Amino acid sequence: MATLGWRRCASAGDETDITIPITDLDKTVTLARGWYAKGFRLFKMKVGKDVESDIRRLKAVHLALPDISFIGDGNQGFSRQDCLTFARGVKRFGGTMVLLEQPVVRDDLDSMAAIRRETGIPVAADESVRSLADAQEVVARGAADYINIKIMKTGVAEAVEIASFTKASGLKLMIGGMVETRVAMGCSFSLVLGLGGFEVLDLDTPLLLTSDPVTGGYRYEGARLQPWSRPGLDMKAAPSPNVTTIE
Ligand SMILES: [Mg+2]
Repeated sequence: MATLGWRRCASAGDETDITIPITDLDKTVTLARGWYAKGFRLFKMKVGKDVESDIRRLKAVHLALPDISFIGDGNQGFSRQDCLTFARGVKRFGGTMVLLEQPVVRDDLDSMAAIRRETGIPVAADESVRSLADAQEVVARGAADYINIKIMKTGVAEAVEIASFTKASGLKLMIGGMVETRVAMGCSFSLVLGLGGFEVLDLDTPLLLTSDPVTGGYRYEGARLQPWSRPGLDMKAAPSPNVTTIE
C-alpha cells in the first residue's frame, strides 16, 4: 500500500487541504495557483463526472505546480473501471495522488476494496460511513484505509464513537465537513485537537465562503489552523451588513 507523500509534523501545526471544484481547465489552474500562493500544498480535486477531463485538469495543475499532492474526491461519481482509469492516468503524468475519496457509490464496498488493491492508493470512505454501523461494515469488508469523520453526518457524539472505532480497527482518520462556517468547523477542529490521530484535515470550507460571519475562534494562517486559547469555541457572531437593527 502506498504511503502518504504528504506529511505534517507536530511542530508544523495542523494543515488543511483545499478543495478545487469541477470547472474548466483555465479556471482550475487559476484557482490552484491562487491557493498555492497562500501556502496550500494538498489539493482536493473534485472528480468523477468525466474521467478524461478529470485527468486533464489534474495534469494541468501538476504541470503548473509540480510539488503539490492530490486527493481525488469522486463523491460517488466513478464506476470502478473509471476510477482505475483515472488513477492510471494520474500516475502516467507523474502526479502524486495520496488518497482516493469515495470514488464509487456508497454501497459498492466491493469496488472500494478492489480500488485499494489494484491502485495501491489509499481509499477514504466518506458517504459510505454515515453511522457507526456503516463504519463497522467498511472495516469488515476491507473497503477503506481512511474514514472521513464529519459531525454533520452523525452529530458530535457518534463522530467521536466512529473515530475511536476507526483507530481501534487500525484504519486512519480524516476529518471534513459540509459547507460550514468556522462555528461547526471549530467543533471539528476541537476533535482534531482533543482526540488526536487525524492524519488528513479537510477543514477548508470557511475559506470558500465570500464572508466570515463570526469573529474570534481558531484562525487560518495559510493552510494551517491555529487554535484559540479561551473557553468554548471563543467566537462571536459578526455584525451583518445586511441586517438593520430596529429599535
Ligand atoms: Mg467527500
